[in-house]
Amino acid sequence: MRYQELSYWLSSVDEPLTPRPALPGDADADVVIVGAGYTGLWTAYYLAAADPTLRITVLESEIAGYGASGRNGGWCSALFPTSLPALARRHGRDRALAMQRAMQETVREVGRVVAAEGIDCDWRPGGTVVLARSGAQLGRARAAVEEAREYGLSDEDLVLLDADQAAARCAADGVLGGTYTPHCAAVHPARLVRGLARAVEGRGVTIYERTPVTAIRPGAAVTPAGVVRAPVVVRATEGFTPALPGQRRTVAPVYSLMVATEPLRASTWAEIGLADRETFSDYRHVIIYGQRTADGRLAFGGRGAPYHFGSRTAPGYDREPRVFAALRRVLGELFPVLGEVPVSHTWGGPLGVARDWAASVGLDRASGLAWAGGYVGDGVGTSNLAGRTLADLIRGQRTELTALPWVNHRSPRWEPEPLRWLAVNAGLRLMFSADEAEQRTNRPARRAAAFSRLLGH
Ligand SMILES: Cc1cc2nc3c(=O)[nH]c(=O)nc-3n(C[C@H](O)[C@H](O)[C@H](O)COP(=O)(O)OP(=O)(O)OC[C@H]3O[C@@H](n4cnc5c(N)ncnc54)[C@H](O)[C@@H]3O)c2cc1C
Repeated sequence: MRYQELSYWLSSVDEPLTPRPALPGDADADVVIVGAGYTGLWTAYYLAAADPTLRITVLESEIAGYGASGRNGGWCSALFPTSLPALARRHGRDRALAMQRAMQETVREVGRVVAAEGIDCDWRPGGTVVLARSGAQLGRARAAVEEAREYGLSDEDLVLLDADQAAARCAADGVLGGTYTPHCAAVHPARLVRGLARAVEGRGVTIYERTPVTAIRPGAAVTPAGVVRAPVVVRATEGFTPALPGQRRTVAPVYSLMVATEPLRASTWAEIGLADRETFSDYRHVIIYGQRTADGRLAFGGRGAPYHFGSRTAPGYDREPRVFAALRRVLGELFPVLGEVPVSHTWGGPLGVARDWAASVGLDRASGLAWAGGYVGDGVGTSNLAGRTLADLIRGQRTELTALPWVNHRSPRWEPEPLRWLAVNAGLRLMFSADEAEQRTNRPARRAAAFSRLLGH
């Protein structure tokens, strides 16, 4: 496999992506981690930093960064897949707020490690601007700020922008207003994950690549080449989790797809803005997300690819010409100044969605089995918090992090097929039709909001 072809990001790292050696045979460790994306590597990083004597082994079926971590939109944000009100309903207001503050702190923490480890990943903490381009979207922007105020978050966390302020940051067509939060950094995601892999190796962690794990059980990770025995086994496999025995209904893999343009001229950037490399989106229902890359491209993504029966993942599923064309069309609607600028790269990848839309991290002390994931599209920052939290849990420490409400949360399992297939795809279609209806009528679509509530999102 040519790993460079998996994303624009993996095609633009300064290394050949030659796989590290595979597991040579049976081995022992103190902690074995399955999956070398951000989750697995942040866990290894903080464990090794806290206790350099630990023998930590990471097993990766392809190469570090093969999954979503090498392909995402590069928003290292404080977004968490469960909304503040939903968290407050389940865990109380104080714990919900503690979660929000921990996420904000996480963005700073990733920036700190990137600097300390010298990871060259185009880190730019320019915040996020979310645009409103219709009356309905403006209503949602206002509601988001009101909700933030109800939870004691200030203008420093989320501020409402009028049309001029929003356009000054991101001059998309027809901007009526928006919101801005400083709690986000744009990052080159593949350079982050590859740099992190080198940083953990520098701390004595062993990474075996091209080593698929066929089963996880208490005390062992099983591969065709041998078994790694360890008292703690961490599952960090996110969208690929359903392929593991016993995990078919743990998360649903939903594909997010992206396009990147050729580098834009300075004059085009002068019209678009994003001068601080703010990440950007708008208040439609079907998520879109973009960033101005350090080399002057627009990297832009969204959902819309179908969910595949039986929670299957396969390389071809991240190539949907219909979705790529739709993404390019939306980019043109946002920024007519782009004209015929060609798309240079198209790609996608699976993210993990738990049945209750709740990310979680945990360790079952009795079995030694640990996990983290279900981040939906918010794993770049959240995986760092997961790694720090797992390091505390595995070392038996009770800390502020281990008291956060997502720790040891157990999401219900997804319905068996065909219900799961029907539900996920119907939900995706409903979101699209809600956006279309809003564009036609300029009135908020209630059905989409009802669906979001149904999912507890
Ligand atoms: C197109 C796209 C855009 C996104 N944009 C953003 C964004 O802008 N901001 C944001 O916060 N989040 C975003 N996300 C989500 C984010 O990328 C993920 O939540 C995050 O990367 C998850 O990291 P992870 O390490 O848990 O999983 P992954 O990066 O998917 O890593 C899992 C690893 O486990 C390996 N693996 C799986 N099964 C096995 C096995 N049996 N044996 C051995 N190894 C195995 C895989 O090969 C993979 O390397 C996006 C996701 C996608 C797909």
